Amino acid sequence: MTNIAITGASGRMGKALIEAVSLDGNSNLSGAVVRSGSSLSGVDAGDIAGIGKLNVITTSDLSGVLDETDVLIDFTTPATTLANLELCVASNVAMVVGTTGFTQEQLAELESQAEKIPVVFAANFSTGITLALQLLETAARVMGADSDIEITETHHRNKVDAPSGTALALGRVVADTLGRNLDDCAVYGREGITGVRDRETIGFSTVRAGDVVGDHTVLFASEGERLEITHKASSRMSFARGAVRAANWLTGKPAGLYSMKDVLEL
Ligand code: NAD
Repeated sequence: MTNIAITGASGRMGKALIEAVSLDGNSNLSGAVVRSGSSLSGVDAGDIAGIGKLNVITTSDLSGVLDETDVLIDFTTPATTLANLELCVASNVAMVVGTTGFTQEQLAELESQAEKIPVVFAANFSTGITLALQLLETAARVMGADSDIEITETHHRNKVDAPSGTALALGRVVADTLGRNLDDCAVYGREGITGVRDRETIGFSTVRAGDVVGDHTVLFASEGERLEITHKASSRMSFARGAVRAANWLTGKPAGLYSMKDVLEL
């Protein structure tokens, strides 16, 4: 059994993660951590997730929980994740990171800490998106050079970063396959007299509306035909189940930074 602790336990993903661990036959919830000062500290984690008592009482003391933990799953904020990563390194606990919105400097920090403990980091833990990343390599190789490539993403009104980490990950695979640097070729939204489209660019469009869990489409448009690769998440459980699968897979792995592709052995 993998002993899994969850930070951000009262968040949208935190609740789904509590449920996913409780449904998983191979793992056990060793701790549920809420931010310090939270009114939900001291509450049963199962009650927070709305699934009945689990006899795991939430705390805001991550260090106290890590003693009995094999893997921490963290879907919080970039600054919180990096602080938690430092504690995991100090306690030699593996980590699954689902937080998005890191700056380049923060990503470099994550990469350097992952030399000391095993870490799975993915902008999207769903099986479908992991497979889409693979399919996009083929699409970009075959159609990319002759196509205009546009990425559209839609998320719920409470998402705070844009474009989504998943949209950027999709764009990065396409750019890498085509030998382009995403930082140089990405166009984030258009307005006014934009001029004709440069085929070397990859366009991103963001929609924020309602309670959409996460939709992504990558469009390859060439002369006379279009290919669209679309993924729609209808429940956060798709991410939560993937993260728990990653946590189980991570047990016993050497230190290093792993992706969901590694977990699914694609
Ligand atoms: P949310 O706002 O519902 O939850 C964030 C959690 O972080 C909350 O529990 C909050 O208490 C905690 N938190 C924030 N600041 C904190 C602090 N200073 N100290 C301790 N805890 C703190 O957000 P969410 O929708 O659950 O998403 C969380 C993150 O996961 C986002 O970055 C989101 O983009 C990402 N996400 C990733 C995937 C994936 O598959 N990788 C899927 C969905 C969401």
